[in-house]
Amino acid sequence: MKPAVFNYLRPESVEEALRLLSDYGDDAKVLSGGQSLIPVLNMRLSTPEYLIDIGKVEELNYIREEGDHLAIGALVRHKDIESSPLVKELCPLLEEAIRWVGTTQIRNRGTVGGSIAHGDPSAELPCVLAALRGEIVVASMEGEEVLSPEEFFLTYMLTSLQPDQMIKEIRFPIMSKESASSFVEVARTHGDFALAEAAVVLETDETGTVTKAQIAVGGVNPTPTVLEEVEEHIIGKKLTDELLAEVREMTEDNVDPESDLHGTDEYRRELVGVLVQRALKTAVARVMKGDGQHE
Ligand SMILES: Cc1cc2nc3c(=O)[nH]c(=O)nc-3n(C[C@H](O)[C@H](O)[C@H](O)COP(=O)(O)OP(=O)(O)OC[C@H]3O[C@@H](n4cnc5c(N)ncnc54)[C@H](O)[C@@H]3O)c2cc1C
Repeated sequence: MKPAVFNYLRPESVEEALRLLSDYGDDAKVLSGGQSLIPVLNMRLSTPEYLIDIGKVEELNYIREEGDHLAIGALVRHKDIESSPLVKELCPLLEEAIRWVGTTQIRNRGTVGGSIAHGDPSAELPCVLAALRGEIVVASMEGEEVLSPEEFFLTYMLTSLQPDQMIKEIRFPIMSKESASSFVEVARTHGDFALAEAAVVLETDETGTVTKAQIAVGGVNPTPTVLEEVEEHIIGKKLTDELLAEVREMTEDNVDPESDLHGTDEYRRELVGVLVQRALKTAVARVMKGDGQHE
């Protein structure tokens, strides 16, 4: 199918884009990499009167170190994250996760802002953002708001974005040199959305006792989910087999997946428990090796 007729608008600055959103927001959609929106338009699941293509808004295309976080402009493409030395050095969890997003072709076009705005709970970036306690900068003609993932992701593919708002920047906290991370997922084939996924950042002392833990899962609840209870439970302990068994049980208790064509709720629940165990084991091995976050 082809999309319904629309008016195509191509702003060249954030200000122009925001003015267009203020004028036409109720009848408009922002077009970024088009990897999710174009199929939706082609299937006529959405028929906006205006498409506001932000592809030429170069001021949204940057990866910068700013204080305690990496500031990534909404228009940065997945492939630029994959190849960024700054991301590799300061936020290796993001670098590891981005390789799971779609195929090379998708990563060449898809953007960070688009991925977050789409609000798919199986997508990798929302899960990473939740684990790291990152932030989303949303702008309109009225000004800017900085939102946590909990404030931004409301439910399955629904975010707090208002018709006159757009995402300007995503802030990924810089990981400490003492930490290590791990991102794991299971998908039907590499490049598909995750059936379940887990993102972990850990710090331990020299004996392997956990001193800091950040854990999030995706694909198993309507929004990416931080496992606070599990984080608190493992602090001050070593990741023994007994503790990992408890972690698995607690993870399963904190998710409420749905069955679909690709897997039952039961399967997803068990899967995510195992993935959290795996991510923790990998992260702790990486910390103990003391050679950074990656093998
Ligand atoms: C075959 C296939 C496999 C894929 N696999 C994966 C996968 O494994 N993991 C994964 O995470 N993604 C996957 N994707 C999606 C891909 O990552 C998209 O790039 C991403 O979801 C959307 O980014 P985009 O830039 O293409 O956004 P678009 O498609 O342009 O937009 C998506 C939505 O976000 C809105 N939007 C875009 N930018 C902004 C902004 N700055 N402010 C406000 N709203 C905005 C649009 O209006 C639209 O509603 C896949 C896509 C395909 C086609």
